[in-house]
Amino acid sequence: MKKTFLAACMALLAFGGSALAENFPSHPITMVVPFSAGGPTDAMARILSDRMKTKLGQPILIENVTGAAGSLGVGRVVRAAPDGYTISIGHLGTHVANGAIYKLGYDLVADLEPVVLLPSNPMIIVSTNAIPAKSLKELIAWLKARPTPPTAGTAGAGSGSHIAGLYFEKATGIKLQYVPYRGTAPALTDLVAGQIDLMIDQTSNSIAQVRAGTIRAYAVTDDKRVESASDIPTTDEAGLSGFHMTLWSGLWVPKGTPKDIVAKINAAAVEAMNDPAVRKKFEDMGLQMPPQDQLSAEALGAWQKAEIAKWWPMIKAADVKVD
Ligand code: ASP
Repeated sequence: MKKTFLAACMALLAFGGSALAENFPSHPITMVVPFSAGGPTDAMARILSDRMKTKLGQPILIENVTGAAGSLGVGRVVRAAPDGYTISIGHLGTHVANGAIYKLGYDLVADLEPVVLLPSNPMIIVSTNAIPAKSLKELIAWLKARPTPPTAGTAGAGSGSHIAGLYFEKATGIKLQYVPYRGTAPALTDLVAGQIDLMIDQTSNSIAQVRAGTIRAYAVTDDKRVESASDIPTTDEAGLSGFHMTLWSGLWVPKGTPKDIVAKINAAAVEAMNDPAVRKKFEDMGLQMPPQDQLSAEALGAWQKAEIAKWWPMIKAADVKVD
């Protein structure tokens, strides 16, 4: 009797789930960007969601929930109803590194459902024009000769720009003094104004200012040059051999979101990324498209776990202090 009741409940839940999925989406969706407006994650979210709405038939509203390197914005999605109407966009920092730094109050793997891998972005080493170096080697020599640690802008402890900074400290022996912002958009404004010395930023964020000559770029942290900025050398070419870091991004929804809904969001994002107009925008920003065979929800889940295994030991060893 008990068993029959349980089976009936499960059948009802399954039916409810599929009815929910069939009508999905019947009203606007929210995509939570965990960093400031105008920054690299925000830019990717807006381009992507604008095209996803064509497939989904509903608008996707962007909500910027900033602070603590994106961990507050991700928490907002973890606590949302698992119905597909609240999507988390994030990256290596928010969905991997933060788990090793913050007492999050949620589990990045157990409390979220992966949806799809998004483009990745090599970082770019940039400084204020006030620093007189003309090459990466000169920059490193100049930073080493300074009596006090140079200031480096970040989007908070655990963000992409911060992980890149830790990696740079390890590779060069230079001690940085981090200045945390709610995203690299405001950090970039301060870099242009000369309020901070340098930043290891997502290429998509800094590239326009580099082109305008308001900040100086030294190298992209990849083994190949960025097509849209082919005059900037790679770290290998500029003398910091092997210093590679690419910040991949992705979409997640709360755990328990019905599989069919995850599949619908995944299909809309894949269609958006395969749209030539979207690809062109992303490539102009220096973004690299994910391989076609890595676009399933399962592929992102496996990738996220592998990245946790790779990065957590280094981040924990760095013993990052947060307030
Ligand atoms: N992706 C962040 C932003 O959009 C920056 C970072 O992680 O460094 O501001």
